[in-house]
Amino acid sequence: MAEIKDQQRKLPVLLETAQAPLNEITRQVADLTALLESATKERRTFEKDLEAHESQTEKMRTRLSELKTNKEYQAHLFEIEMANKKKSDIEERILVYMEKVEQHQNGIKDAQVKKAEADQQFTGEKARLDAQQAELTAELSELEQKHKEIAVGVEKILLARYTKLKAARRDQALAPVRNGICFGCKLQISPQLVAQVKRSDALLSCSFCNRLLYWEGEPVSEAVVSAGVKQRPEYDEGESI
Ligand SMILES: [Zn+2]
Repeated sequence: MAEIKDQQRKLPVLLETAQAPLNEITRQVADLTALLESATKERRTFEKDLEAHESQTEKMRTRLSELKTNKEYQAHLFEIEMANKKKSDIEERILVYMEKVEQHQNGIKDAQVKKAEADQQFTGEKARLDAQQAELTAELSELEQKHKEIAVGVEKILLARYTKLKAARRDQALAPVRNGICFGCKLQISPQLVAQVKRSDALLSCSFCNRLLYWEGEPVSEAVVSAGVKQRPEYDEGESI
């Protein structure tokens, strides 16, 4: 049950990790779209400028015939020349923004292909995680039911001790002993305690974390345990590994 709850706690993190690439590419599409809008707006502004400028130049041209003196005529030609120069400046800017618009449109197209891929990948991963969540929930409720059934038959004082330990030790009230180590706190326990746990004839607690210790194999007789202890001078008591 503790393992399942642990896995369940990790699922939202996994989902968030799976969603990160999709979020990133979605943000890129939004950024590019904003750039495209602003470039399009700039281009339109310059196009309007050009229209206004052209109608003004047209008026200037029609006035040419109304001019009386050569001096006036020359001055007016100069104005028209300046106006033409301004026109080509505006046209150049329009070209610059047209290029930008095209560049952003292509960028958006590429990003949208990537976004579709990221979306597909995320959808697959989410479905996988959802299925895992459902499986874990079913498994947990099954175990909770079994736990209830077994708890009925357990001595009240012992059950209270177990429940208290479970709450204090992140759902793990029990710990197997492996290689002389309590697997709850991963500390080396005394060879005497290991031997007692291996005999499995009493309920014993880890001297460090208080978890109830158990031996995973068959109970081991006194003689075998003693021999085993003598062969194993590996760790100091309480050493963390
Ligand atoms: Zn321990």
